[in-house]
Amino acid sequence: MKNAVRRTRQNLVGRLDTLVRGKKVISPEVLDELEEILIGADIGVRTTLDLVEKIRAQVDRKLLNDTDELKRVLRQELLALLRSPVKSVSGRAVRSEQDLSSDIRPYVMMVVGVNGVGKTTTIAKLANLIKREGNEVIVCAADTFRAAAADQLTVWANRVGIPVIQQKPGTDPAAVVYDAMQAAKSRDADVVIVDTAGRLHNKVNLMNELEKMSRIARREVPQAPHEVLLVLDAATGQNGLEQARQFAKSVPVTGLVLTKLDGTAKGGIVVAIARELGLPIRYIGTGEQLDDLTVFSPETFVDSLFE
Ligand code: GDP
Repeated sequence: MKNAVRRTRQNLVGRLDTLVRGKKVISPEVLDELEEILIGADIGVRTTLDLVEKIRAQVDRKLLNDTDELKRVLRQELLALLRSPVKSVSGRAVRSEQDLSSDIRPYVMMVVGVNGVGKTTTIAKLANLIKREGNEVIVCAADTFRAAAADQLTVWANRVGIPVIQQKPGTDPAAVVYDAMQAAKSRDADVVIVDTAGRLHNKVNLMNELEKMSRIARREVPQAPHEVLLVLDAATGQNGLEQARQFAKSVPVTGLVLTKLDGTAKGGIVVAIARELGLPIRYIGTGEQLDDLTVFSPETFVDSLFE
């Protein structure tokens, strides 16, 4: 994790260290500069303004004077933001933890996101992680729109050593879900991970398509899909946030996977997302290999930035 946020650490805490070097007092200029640093790390304008205002109020009331203390307070505030209870954008209750330990079999996870964000790689990493915990996993290649999608998924699944259920390009995605559910039943699989088409050009279509897939899955197991994970590329920063808002309007997203955190200096987007979207970040992608997926923990994330 520490390595994955190296660039963000330099851009955020590294710049903060430079800012306070040789300065004893938290002056208005220091606070202005802090604001720029936070916005530069993609923490989001709204979140930054709130945060700096809070620090400014502490300085005004003489509860905070020393630049030495600034880092500690910032760390504490960022952690509080990431830990704050999650409220869903749609007002739906959001489960704060994944519940693979429940009795639901198979546990159905649908993965959505636009092409290029790292959806296929994420599915492979996720399958690998869940398999390593001793579960039988099946991947369902329901992105029948992009011909290469199923092939790419098969290459990954072979590497992980799990079956992929697929059909010809152009097949109704719900039919592939049906096949996957049958396969899951006959193999007594624990988890089915469903890949979906990565487009959002027509929200109504996407919504209908996902709803149809969900209905088919629900015929076999109540309340499916049990998770709808939206994959976002951390490097797209505020655009990714907007993309997530659009998706969340059309699709009942239950959690997020933030990929390519290793490639960006703007990892503050994690805070912006948690704060402004109200959806829990479940996993983060920290590289191109199978093992480069980590269950997101606010503590580990903040510790890695500051230590
Ligand atoms: P998809 O079109 O959304 O299915 O995207 P892919 O899974 O094919 O990934 C697109 C590119 O992003 C590939 O080159 C992946 O290796 C890369 N990628 C995916 N996740 C990560 C990550 O967490 N870190 C890095 N550095 N690269 C990633």
